[in-house]
Amino acid sequence: MSGASPTLRSVTDSAGAATSPAATGPGEVAPRRRPALSPSRAGDFKQCPLLYRFRAIDRLPELPSRAQIRGTLVHTVLERLYDLPAAQRAPEAARGLVRPVWAELCAELPELVEQLFEGPDDPELPRWLESADALLEVYFRMEDPRRLEPAARELLVETELASGLLLRGYVDRLDVAATGQVRVVDYKTGAAPREVAEVKALFQMKFYALALLQLRGVVPTQLRLLYLADGESLTYEPDEAELRRFERTLEAIWRAIREAGESGDFRPNRGRMCEWCSHKALCPAWGGTPPAYPGWPAEEDVATAALEHLAQ
Ligand code: SF4
Repeated sequence: MSGASPTLRSVTDSAGAATSPAATGPGEVAPRRRPALSPSRAGDFKQCPLLYRFRAIDRLPELPSRAQIRGTLVHTVLERLYDLPAAQRAPEAARGLVRPVWAELCAELPELVEQLFEGPDDPELPRWLESADALLEVYFRMEDPRRLEPAARELLVETELASGLLLRGYVDRLDVAATGQVRVVDYKTGAAPREVAEVKALFQMKFYALALLQLRGVVPTQLRLLYLADGESLTYEPDEAELRRFERTLEAIWRAIREAGESGDFRPNRGRMCEWCSHKALCPAWGGTPPAYPGWPAEEDVATAALEHLAQ
């Protein structure tokens, strides 16, 4: 793998800078596609339709948190780790990638250090980088990367369902056994799964399983979430009937999104998650006024898919 990975591009999007320059070369125009559903955006709509609007339609900038950027950093390090020959995939090799990947992020987004820290000399910065090392240490307790040869990393999955609904998302890692059995692996760098988080994670994994079923004609044997904060994992074995039911669920969510998109009626759903919402000041549930509804987008640039990664 090389150059700016989807994860690095996603930071640019979420930090609010223009999407296209980061996703393409200078002067190039990002390719554009018709709007698609991703696990994150479906989750946004289920949580709060107005949050969906702010993120997917208004594309309001959001400042990433330190935890999100650490997630991006660790995902990128794990992706690059598998570029090395198997025998070299040791913990020290992973730790050795952390600072160079951070330097790349900073080079792409010089404002990141100023936004998240009090400049490059902030005494919290080395401690924060060490917290990324700690997540990688946990990873090595969960898996031995010397024994794995992923079929794909940071895989963009995009497929159209029979109904015409376009699904789009990124799979952290895809393992394919000699028998043809497929395993989807997702790294989580936040807290361990609990209640709502677990439901959200399973939704995301079913989404990928359905997309892969569409694309490859096989039901993934296993969906595996690795929680690097505490070394817990969640394994799920889907079956086709369940994934077909899930397909109907996604279509129902998309219909609801399109109806709201036509009318512009995206209702706020005030709740516990508002505490983490970047758009509270514009939210009528908190006394704010949203910007004028810009209308349903005819198309979106493909870098939007990369943006989803941060929110997962
Ligand atoms: S503050 Fe709460 S209700 Fe308002 S948009 Fe954000 S998540 Fe939705």
